Amino acid sequence: MKRKPDGAPLTIGGPAAFPEKFFAASKGVRDAGWSCIKRMPSYLQLLRVLQAQGQEYVSGTVLATVHNFEPVLVRKDLAFTGAVGQPRRGFRILELIAAIERFLGWDNQTKAVLAGVGSLGTALLGYPGFQDLGLRFVGAFDIDRKKIGSWIYGRKVQPLAQLTPFVRRGEILLGVLTVPATAAQETAELMVRAGIKGIWNFTPVKLQLPEDIVSQKEDLAEGLAVLSHRLQRRKRT
Ligand code: ATP
Repeated sequence: MKRKPDGAPLTIGGPAAFPEKFFAASKGVRDAGWSCIKRMPSYLQLLRVLQAQGQEYVSGTVLATVHNFEPVLVRKDLAFTGAVGQPRRGFRILELIAAIERFLGWDNQTKAVLAGVGSLGTALLGYPGFQDLGLRFVGAFDIDRKKIGSWIYGRKVQPLAQLTPFVRRGEILLGVLTVPATAAQETAELMVRAGIKGIWNFTPVKLQLPEDIVSQKEDLAEGLAVLSHRLQRRKRT
């Protein structure tokens, strides 16, 4: 089977059975580039604040100023979403939020299972903000007998052996990996065999996965290393 290392650029496309919305894989997304995609959540966050304040329209310039981006960059980003602004008024906030959510594939909830209900897994299960990001944990799995059967933020921890039938029954496409590094590859492979098509990998392991599987690695140690190094340099100067 052809494999690619985890952390490589996300595969865009995939089998026909894989919903387009999961990949956020419209042509627009492919053309937009990762930097543009990564800016979208910050636009969304501000738009939701403005909406909560009762504002109806926002200009690209306001979005740019608040985020300290070039206005032309913001205009280009928003163009990818298909949102159309009105002369002098700007974008209708309601419509812009919907356009960005559609663009990111966040307009529908994606069901996810989580494997490894340790400290990090528990924190992720308890984070209510994922609702707004189109992610809904529907199942949590572990191998620790002491944890199996307990309830974590409204989800019963199930034995890992139940992951496959659960995923197949629920047609779940996204798996979140918070197991120890030593169990990462085998657990990811189990998820893939069960039918999972996308893995959000919180372990430090570079997973070897089939070509048609999308994965994203969040290595907290990497981020902290960069931050600590910059802090050291700042201290020296
Ligand atoms: P704990 O809360 O048990 O101290 P932790 O936060 O220190 O865990 P880890 O040791 O990385 O974190 O383990 C994370 C979780 O993954 C634990 O609940 C562990 O029981 C679970 N786990 C370990 N191996 C597997 C596996 N193969 N599949 C699913 N869960 C696993």
